[in-house]
Amino acid sequence: MAQAKRRVAYYYDAEIGNYHYGTSHPMKPHRVRMTHNLVVNYGLYKQVEVYRSKPASAQQMMRFHSDDYIDFLRIVTPDNVHDFVRQLQRFNVGEDCPVFDGLFEYCQIYTAGSIGGAARLNRKESDIVINWSGGLHHAKKSEASGFCYVNDCVLAILELLKKHQRVVYIDIDIHHGDGVEEAFYTTDRVMTVSFHKFGEYFPGTGDVKDSGHGAGTNHSVNFPLRDGMNDEAYRTCFRPVMAKVMEHFQPEAVLLQCGADSLSGDRLGCFNMSVKGHADCVEYMKGFNVPLLVLGGGGYTLRNVSRCWTYETSVLLGTPVPNELPVNDYYPYYGPDFTLCIPPSNMENLNTTEYLEGKKVQLFEQLRKVSPTSVQIQTGQPGTAQTPRDDEEMGDGGEEEGKEPDPDARETEAELDARVDATTELYDGEKDQDTGAQ
Ligand SMILES: [Zn+2]
Repeated sequence: MAQAKRRVAYYYDAEIGNYHYGTSHPMKPHRVRMTHNLVVNYGLYKQVEVYRSKPASAQQMMRFHSDDYIDFLRIVTPDNVHDFVRQLQRFNVGEDCPVFDGLFEYCQIYTAGSIGGAARLNRKESDIVINWSGGLHHAKKSEASGFCYVNDCVLAILELLKKHQRVVYIDIDIHHGDGVEEAFYTTDRVMTVSFHKFGEYFPGTGDVKDSGHGAGTNHSVNFPLRDGMNDEAYRTCFRPVMAKVMEHFQPEAVLLQCGADSLSGDRLGCFNMSVKGHADCVEYMKGFNVPLLVLGGGGYTLRNVSRCWTYETSVLLGTPVPNELPVNDYYPYYGPDFTLCIPPSNMENLNTTEYLEGKKVQLFEQLRKVSPTSVQIQTGQPGTAQTPRDDEEMGDGGEEEGKEPDPDARETEAELDARVDATTELYDGEKDQDTGAQ
């Protein structure tokens, strides 16, 4: 079947690489800049529309997060952090999720790309949207977790739900996508699917038995894995499970979180995936021709993160690139081989065929009970994210479109759409040709 060239939008804000969690902290936003630099030097940016979003507002974040948590993120700085001892504990900010200079702006930037990308898909202006700075899947409603402060995945899904009845969230980060699963655990409009290392590993959740609750029963899908997952084993799990998810749930939009800490040699990970094996998930989901939002996530061996996300950008564009890396600003990082694709190591795969087949049988049984004919969700369930909360106050007037928002009307679809159109996207002028000729 011949496939039309997909319209791909790519969100990037050059500021993102300037934020630092701390010298010894494994999370380095710089990896997104390294990725972008490779994308540019491979010439891939000529085939995408490159966008930079206006920073996400506190109000936008409060569609999922609690007001007091977001207010705290806005005001805390390394200089005043000692005045907030109680809040630091309450919001789990400190060690894994430190206070650093520009923390809130950082959250605004990575979140803006994900929400703005979802809005583009809603308006059918793109078929695929990429935001490598997003995918911070551990953040909770009122709590930072696992290097994540604001859960841009949840906020992007809420945006997609305005125009799409069912959204599937797929998570190939090595860690369980706990924040997203928790947010949508009781709704049947969002199916979350996470493939992750399970057993004595952060965040500790994601058992195959945890499959949703209430209306969301069977709509949380968890594939627990052991150390050493390789390309072949991953493919024999990911493809059949996702085929069943797409068949039974029939989502109208897909969010794919592409955490690169599942790659071989990751500083924090323990899988043995190559770049091509990781990208096979991207290739497979692209093939369903459903509006696709692709986000980053974890990934702590920087040179491999940028390799992976660059290669996945080429896959999404349908533009093969040579394995030999082009000259780029970070060329010495990529020695001694200076190639795009990394080979896996010889580490043992502790996931036996019997183990994986057993889990697949369990998940197929769960998915067999899922059908796309769902009832309209209930509103206002505490602790979940499936509908905008209607009990919040307006906060600080952070909207900048020049009119005073009415709290009662603020969450109507028309209002939000108008706001999105007015404020979230700025064409950054890096690209001015269409994508149809290739
Ligand atoms: Zn991770």
